[in-house]
Amino acid sequence: MKRFDFVQPASLSQALGAWKPGAVWLGGGTSLVDLMKTGAATPDRVIDITRLPGLRGIEVLADGATRIGALVSNADLARDDGFASRFPMVAEALLSGAS
Ligand SMILES: Cc1cc2nc3c(=O)[nH]c(=O)nc-3n(C[C@H](O)[C@H](O)[C@H](O)COP(=O)(O)OP(=O)(O)OC[C@H]3O[C@@H](n4cnc5c(N)ncnc54)[C@H](O)[C@@H]3O)c2cc1C
Repeated sequence: MKRFDFVQPASLSQALGAWKPGAVWLGGGTSLVDLMKTGAATPDRVIDITRLPGLRGIEVLADGATRIGALVSNADLARDDGFASRFPMVAEALLSGAS
C-alpha cells in the first residue's frame, strides 16, 4: 500500500488548513478504504473529518431550503421528522438505497 499521511483535525479550520492537492476527506470510509485497498485511490493524505464538531446538523433555512451537515448519515437524515415531512420521497429513497 502506498504510504500516506493520516490527519485527525480537531476543528473545521484545522481540517481546511490540512487539505492540499492529493488529499482526500475521510467520512465513513465505506468507499474510500476499499478504493485504497485496490489501488484505485492513492491519496497522499487522508483527513479524517468524522470527529469535527458542528457538521451533524439538519437545518431548515428561511427560504425553505434545507442545509444538511457534511457528517449527517443517510439514516439520520431520512428519520429526521422535519426533513421527512418536507421531502418524503427523498427520505424514502435514502432508506431504500442503503443495504
Ligand atoms: C459493500 C458496500 C456496500 C455499499 N452499499 C451501498 C448502498 O446500499 N447504497 C449506497 O448509496 N451506497 C452504497 N455503498 C457506497 C458507499 O456507502 C457510499 O459511497 C457512501 O456515500 C460512502 O460514504 P462514506 O461516508 O463512507 O464515504 P467515504 O468512503 O469516507 O468517502 C467516499 C468519497 O467521498 C469523499 N468524502 C467523504 N466525506 C466527504 C465530505 N464530507 N465532503 C466531501 N467529500 C467527502 C471522500 O474523500 C471519498 O472520495 C456501498 C459501498 C460498499 C463498499
